[in-house]
Amino acid sequence: MSTPPPRVRFAPSPTGYLHVGGARTALFNWLYARAHGGTFVLRIEDTDAARNTPAAQAAIVDGLRWLGIDWDEGPEQNGPHAPYYQSQRGPIYDAYFQKLVDADHTYTEPNGAVRFRSPKKTIVLHDQICGDINIDRSEEPDMTIRRPDGSYIFHFVNVVDDIEMAISHVIRGEDHIYNTGKHIELFQAFGATPPVYAHIPLILNPDGSKMSKRDQGAALSYYIDHAFLPQAVANYLCLLGWSPKDDREILTMEEIQPLFRWENIGHSNAKFDLEKCRWLNAQYLAKLDAPSFDHLAIAWLLAQPTPLPGTDDPRLREVLPLIQPKIKAIPELAEHLPMLFDGAAPIADDARAKLAAQPALAPRLATLLSYLENLSDWSAASIQAAVAAAAAALAIKPGALLFPLRVLTTGQAHGVDLLPALEWLGRTEALPRLHARAAALTATST
Ligand code: GLU
Repeated sequence: MSTPPPRVRFAPSPTGYLHVGGARTALFNWLYARAHGGTFVLRIEDTDAARNTPAAQAAIVDGLRWLGIDWDEGPEQNGPHAPYYQSQRGPIYDAYFQKLVDADHTYTEPNGAVRFRSPKKTIVLHDQICGDINIDRSEEPDMTIRRPDGSYIFHFVNVVDDIEMAISHVIRGEDHIYNTGKHIELFQAFGATPPVYAHIPLILNPDGSKMSKRDQGAALSYYIDHAFLPQAVANYLCLLGWSPKDDREILTMEEIQPLFRWENIGHSNAKFDLEKCRWLNAQYLAKLDAPSFDHLAIAWLLAQPTPLPGTDDPRLREVLPLIQPKIKAIPELAEHLPMLFDGAAPIADDARAKLAAQPALAPRLATLLSYLENLSDWSAASIQAAVAAAAAALAIKPGALLFPLRVLTTGQAHGVDLLPALEWLGRTEALPRLHARAAALTATST
């Protein structure tokens, strides 16, 4: 008998933001469904009316879409088990609740709360990732399933929907592992077979602490707002717990799908590392074709409340290819554009300090500038030749002139490749800049 294709679900509670942990859970479910020809359901667990705002729902739906996750059943998609919002499934919960009442699985407290009569046994959870876990329920108090106001508790509605929606596999964070004991009791009380469980390790801060909403990069919106590439973020999120078991780190979702197996999911907590995510983003940014990079950069620039230098400049598109290989994320344009477009930007302290340590700076700059002045053709190659000729005249290595030239050009110690940047800037823009900064430097350094 062949097993039917799996039905998995992502069941977020709208809180106003989509946490990277939630996004990763969604991705793992989606990958599992896609890898096995199954169905991925998005179910919104929005029974907490106070938090259930359109903005909170949009954070989930928009976030998943941005990551490239599509769902077969769920909001805006519907399907045979609609509605996919728990807030709209009241009659279903009432009917299931009645089943438990009729089978004498419940009792009512004086305050009106209804509790589930636990069998008080040890539940053995055969978890696909964590292995076999004994959950001793013998000493646990009976769980409340309905509040005095008639609203239902998370455990109850979660299990009812997993039964109703025929969910075969529950893939979720390890923080739910002990809830699973309660859930299995409920499945058994309904006479239903519990799903297969796979609890994925938690994502912690680098120092081992629990991630909170305030940690940088904890919300998916951080990556959207900072114009990260969704493919890079999805790739990064997959590496938080999953690995291809070889040394590859850069993988597309299509490449990950066939390798998405339980044995490829780690058992220890994953460490969140924004720098690693930025590094991956850089790998994907570098591979973008020019129109795509321009589009991303310009969309981000236009969204800035204070326009950056160069935003409206026709030369912007020509300089973006120089910046593309140098940045890990689009917001670093805020460092590169001022130094390229603003010829009057002051010389940075670190650059000034490094130059102050160089011998004979003033005469060297004077020689360099005279060679550049005499160039007839202002190209990267001829600028390079002029630097070499000036260095030869000074009996120093050309490299000794490149750092000062960089500082004269941009005012900064670091930046895009210098010679193409000078070519881009053009002679009429570059030379006055170089002279002005040389004068500023030598006036204070001697
Ligand atoms: N709404 C629950 C949560 O966001 C769902 C847990 C589950 O996947 O069963 O944590």
